[in-house]
Amino acid sequence: MAAQIDPKKCTMCGGLIQPLCVEICPDTAVRVQDSRVVVTEFLCEDCNECGVVCPDKAISVKVDTVTF
Ligand code: SF4
Ligand code: SF4
Repeated sequence: MAAQIDPKKCTMCGGLIQPLCVEICPDTAVRVQDSRVVVTEFLCEDCNECGVVCPDKAISVKVDTVTF
């Protein structure tokens, strides 16, 4: 698994060039592509830091795979 971003909820943090989820990801698994954020699955370690920081609650990480 990897973090799932719901494009219907994501507002790109109100239009930031470097959105919070991109900023916080320790594995540089989140990037902006075609004006939306995408997660590179094989880089994501399910830490849920992006999910915590997302102001729109647009990111979900499967609970049983969260690593702290
Ligand atoms: S869950 Fe962690 S590793 Fe995966 S995209 Fe979010 S911040 Fe990055
Ligand atoms: S933190 Fe949430 S609202 Fe901001 S760009 Fe990422 S998914 Fe979208």
